[in-house]
Amino acid sequence: VDFELDDHERRIQQCAREAAGRLLAPRAAARDLDSSFPAAELRELATRGLLGIQIAPALGGAGASAVAYAAALMELGAACAATAVPVAVTNMAAELVERFGTPTQAQRWVPPLVRGELLCAAFALSEPGAGSDPSSIATTAQRTADGWRLRGTKQWISHGDQAGLIVVWARTRPDPGAKALSAFLVDPRRTAGTLTVGRREDKMGLRGSSTVTLLLDEVEVPNDALLGAEGDGLRLALTALDGGRIGIASQAVGIAQAAQRLVVDHLRRREGAASLGQTEQFALADSAVAIEAARLLTWTAAYRKRRGQRYTRAAAIAKLVATEEAWRVCDRAIQLHGADGYTRRPGVERLARDVRVGRIYEGTSEIQRLVIARETLRASPEGGAP
Ligand SMILES: Cc1cc2nc3c(=O)[nH]c(=O)nc-3n(C[C@H](O)[C@H](O)[C@H](O)COP(=O)(O)OP(=O)(O)OC[C@H]3O[C@@H](n4cnc5c(N)ncnc54)[C@H](O)[C@@H]3O)c2cc1C
Repeated sequence: VDFELDDHERRIQQCAREAAGRLLAPRAAARDLDSSFPAAELRELATRGLLGIQIAPALGGAGASAVAYAAALMELGAACAATAVPVAVTNMAAELVERFGTPTQAQRWVPPLVRGELLCAAFALSEPGAGSDPSSIATTAQRTADGWRLRGTKQWISHGDQAGLIVVWARTRPDPGAKALSAFLVDPRRTAGTLTVGRREDKMGLRGSSTVTLLLDEVEVPNDALLGAEGDGLRLALTALDGGRIGIASQAVGIAQAAQRLVVDHLRRREGAASLGQTEQFALADSAVAIEAARLLTWTAAYRKRRGQRYTRAAAIAKLVATEEAWRVCDRAIQLHGADGYTRRPGVERLARDVRVGRIYEGTSEIQRLVIARETLRASPEGGAP
């Protein structure tokens, strides 16, 4: 397998690296402290095509591959994971509308989204009583004379208070079947008063990325808010999450790389670095191995997507390994810094706090294992080998 980036992919990677270094990294520690949302940064990333990396140029996107997307998310994640979150969700929503929307929906939403005019998109699936099992959501959508009426509560919605487009999943049938959910494109500016922002979470990490509850109190949306066919919601959500998991894996790889860089700098600077103890060498080596494995698995998933192959299992494996290992890499980085690692000074504690959620959102590690087990039991598993 050849994991070389082509010219276009390398250009996107370079563009993300430059933006990450100049625009995001210098403010990342301050953003963690003041929890400010990176609005100006998102607008600038949009001018570089980074909000629509895989979107067709006809819709204003960069027309690049999943490999370019993974490469960009690694760079942004390493610099400021809190900014990488809205970038990832906006790319995911744009892709969903491009792929499943009507031409009118695509024209209405995708260009302003990728140009940064809507700032970002939110993905409103989780609820107070439905996280790991999206089929159990309680939010309902009822047909009206000229559209739909949405009622319910969404929780844990990343930047739901900032987004110019919110993709809301709701139950259009009461039964528990696979065809009971539908997805809606909701314009928060046109639903003011009925769509309100509730609690903003006080999180352990990713503090610049707001996470809010959204209250839908008889939100009226037109007929053309329905994305895909009625009953397609669960399929759309699972399709979006497959791609999203490549983004989360990439973000985790980026954070792990950043932590390891800090460790290398610290050990090189330290007096007597030549006489590094075996324990330190082992820790450094274990992190190097983990990062390499996570990166290769992330490339594998991204290359499968680029080639148009199934990548559900590959994305779940990449997300599971990358997020679990990145957490361990960050923990080792704190340990190798000693007491300093437990302070804000070197920045490793922020990386550890930011990366921790990777094992929870877009499907917990346990859910990734269920996906991997299910896909491995298929008659013809992805990649040909069980
Ligand atoms: C910072 C942050 C941002 C988020 N952003 C978004 C967003 O933008 N949009 C959105 O829709 N959601 C978002 N989420 C929600 C996230 O996707 C859910 O938290 C996640 O899916 C887990 O759901 P839960 O919290 O309800 O946990 P639960 O589903 O209640 O799970 C609790 C525990 O039980 C385990 N568990 C559950 N079911 C099983 C099972 N069948 N087998 C084995 N173990 C199981 C889980 O792995 C977990 O360890 C976000 C969450 C956070 C923390």
